[in-house]
Amino acid sequence: MLGATGSIGRQTLDVISRAPERYQATVLTAGSKVEDLIDQCRKFKPRLAIIADDTKYEQLRDALSPLGIETASGAEALKSAAAADDVDTVVTATVGYSGLEPTIAAIRAGKDIALANKETLVVAGALINQLLKDSPSRIYPVDSEHSAIYQCLQGEKPEAVKRLLITASGGPFRTWSKEDIEKATVENALKHPNWHMGAKITIDSATMMNKAFELIEAHWLFDLPHAEVKPVVHPQSIVHSMVEFVDGAIKAQLGTPDMRLPIAYALGETRRDDLGLPHLSIADMAELTFMEPDYDKFPCLGLAKYAMERGGNTACVINAANEIAVAAFLGRKIRFTDIYATIMTTLERAPFIALPDYDAYVATNTEARAIALEIIDSLEQPR
Ligand code: NDP
Ligand code: MG
Repeated sequence: MLGATGSIGRQTLDVISRAPERYQATVLTAGSKVEDLIDQCRKFKPRLAIIADDTKYEQLRDALSPLGIETASGAEALKSAAAADDVDTVVTATVGYSGLEPTIAAIRAGKDIALANKETLVVAGALINQLLKDSPSRIYPVDSEHSAIYQCLQGEKPEAVKRLLITASGGPFRTWSKEDIEKATVENALKHPNWHMGAKITIDSATMMNKAFELIEAHWLFDLPHAEVKPVVHPQSIVHSMVEFVDGAIKAQLGTPDMRLPIAYALGETRRDDLGLPHLSIADMAELTFMEPDYDKFPCLGLAKYAMERGGNTACVINAANEIAVAAFLGRKIRFTDIYATIMTTLERAPFIALPDYDAYVATNTEARAIALEIIDSLEQPR
C-alpha cells in the first residue's frame, strides 16, 4: 500500500480489516507521517514499513524493529517494495506525480494494481499502457467514477459502447457566481459537499481539475478510442458514472458516496462481498439531478480536451503546474483563480514533446514545476 496513511490508504486498511482471511497488508508506506504509520503497523503487522521522508527513518526503525517489522526509507525503497515477491496487488494511494515511478516498477514486476493515483495515468497514460502490453499486470480502478464504469462494462462488448458519462458533484463552488469564486478562500475550497478526501484532490475538485484528470484517466484506462468521454454534473454523488451503449441503453452504478465500495471491488478483482458497508436507501435516491458543466466558471475542466487533442507531454505539464499551484494556494501564496492562470502560463512556456519516453516525462515534470514556481513568484500576493 503506497500511501497507507492518507484518505484512500486508511479506507483501504478498513476494507482489509473487514476481510482478514483474504487480505494481508504486506508493505505499508507513508510520506512523512511516521507516527500514523507506526500505529498502522502495530495493528496490521506488515512485513515491511517504508517512510518516504528519510529524516523520519530512525523513529520508524526504533518503533518497529522490536516488533520484527522491517523498515526502510526513500523513493528507491518504495520502488523496490512495489515489486517485492510477497506482493500480489499494489494499491497506489499516494498523491500526485510521486505515484508514477512505483507504479511502473509494479507493472514491470507483473503486479496487479488497485489504482487510486490518477495522476499516474494523467502524466504518462501512453507509457503505462505500452508497459501493460508486455506485462500480466491488470489495473483495477479505485477512483469511484472509473470503478462505476468498470462495473457497467462487465459482460459488454467494447464496440457496443457509445459514451462514458463521468459524473461530477460540481464541488463546493457549483452554485457560486464567477465573481465570488474569484474571492474563494482555502477554507471555502476545502469544504467538499459529498466526499472527505486529501487536501490536494479536494482543491482539484473545487477547480474541477479533478474531473478533467478523470476524463484523461478514463481515456487511458478503458481502451475505447471510438467512445466519447463526457462529464455530467450530478450534485448528489449517488450515480458514480454511466455507460451509454449504441442501442441507446444507459447503465449506471449507484451507491453511497463511500470510497470503501470501489476499493473493495478493486481489491477483490471484481468480486462482490458483504463487508458490512453502508447501503443506499430509497430516500437517498429520491432526488437525482443531472446538468451540463459550466466551462466558463470552471475553465480547468476544458483542459482535458486540450490535453488529449494536443497529446505528447501536455497533460504532464498540466499536472506538474497544477501540483505546484494547488500547493501555493493551500499555502495562501496565490488566489484560487491563479491556479488556472498558472497552468495556462506554464503551458505556454514549457517545451512540447510529441512522443515522450520515460526520461522525457521526468524532465517535463521537473521543468514544468520550475516554470510554475517562477510564475507564482511573479504573481501579486493575495489580498
Ligand atoms: P492524501 O493526501 O490523503 O494521502 C496521500 C498519501 O500519500 C499519504 O499516505 C501520504 O503520506 C503519501 N504521500 C504523499 N506524498 C508522498 C510522496 N512524495 N512519497 C510517498 N508517499 C507520499 O491523498 P488521498 O488519499 O486523498 O488521495 C490519494 C490518491 O487517490 C490521489 O491520487 C487522489 O487523486 C486519488 N483519489 C482519492 C480519493 C479520495 O476519496 N481521497 C478518491 C479518488 C481518487 P503522509 O500521510 O505521510 O503525508
Ligand atoms: Mg473520482
